[in-house]
Amino acid sequence: MTKPDKYTTEKITYLHKWTDHLFSFRTTRNESFTFIPGQFARLGVDKEDGTIVWRPYSIVSADYDEELEFYSIIVPDGEFTQRLKNLNVNDNIYVDKTNYGLLTTDRFEKGKDLWFLSTGTGLAPFISIMYDFTIWEQYDKVILVHCVRNKEELAYQELINGFFTHEYYAEMVKNKLIYVKIITREDNGANLYGRITELLKNNQLEQYVNTNINVLDSRIMICGNPEMVDDTRKILAERGLVISRRGKPGNMAVENYW
Ligand SMILES: Cc1cc2nc3c(=O)[nH]c(=O)nc-3n(C[C@H](O)[C@H](O)[C@H](O)COP(=O)(O)OP(=O)(O)OC[C@H]3O[C@@H](n4cnc5c(N)ncnc54)[C@H](O)[C@@H]3O)c2cc1C
Repeated sequence: MTKPDKYTTEKITYLHKWTDHLFSFRTTRNESFTFIPGQFARLGVDKEDGTIVWRPYSIVSADYDEELEFYSIIVPDGEFTQRLKNLNVNDNIYVDKTNYGLLTTDRFEKGKDLWFLSTGTGLAPFISIMYDFTIWEQYDKVILVHCVRNKEELAYQELINGFFTHEYYAEMVKNKLIYVKIITREDNGANLYGRITELLKNNQLEQYVNTNINVLDSRIMICGNPEMVDDTRKILAERGLVISRRGKPGNMAVENYW
């Protein structure tokens, strides 16, 4: 049980439905809540018996945003999401005061190309990281890969493409950001088709972005479906890439969602 002094009560301020099982929401943000882009918050919703159910959620919004934004799946029979999906604007949601997670770019040293490999809602932390001005100063290329089952699930396209024309970001982003949409179950509406792991094995992903993955240049963040995360990590480990550890910077940082 999380003690009441460990969390704040916030309000839902905005809801956006992408598909029947994917939606985004924004909440008020307590002024004392801080995080590093890429980190997650623990969110709580009321249960009927008076207790609270908690789940970790990557933060989508910028660290300087006055609110917090999240991107969620709705799991059939899911204890948390079956309650979350019924919340409306002005309803309460609890946010743990602590920020969590190691999917942050400060784990890397040097590097030229920053890769974000995501499936489904695993896109979330990478949007927050893209709002971080320092990555655009530090890296020559930022390659955002979002892999989903069908084109309806390619959420946040407008926001991502909006970086190219954004009044503060456009100049930094224009020759650096490469956005790759991947679909596994259809053959139109994306840039590439198939699983990230297959597209790495057959070199299609690197060919498409005209960038080679290697120990010296590549810093790779992987987030989403645990099978994809593990398999991708193994494929890249065979090429000599290693997970960044505290005090021992490597080339990869990963986060499993379940
Ligand atoms: C560090 C971390 C960050 C996370 N960030 C997010 C996020 O930003 N957005 C988000 O939607 N979820 C995120 N999750 C998953 C989230 O915490 C919950 O598992 C999810 O909201 C479902 O909760 P539930 O109680 O309804 O079902 P659960 O009982 O928690 O999960 C039931 C099953 O649903 C499937 N599942 C769970 N989450 C997902 C998902 N995101 N996509 C596809 N299938 C899933 C898995 O098969 C899981 O076993 C994150 C998890 C971790 C560990």
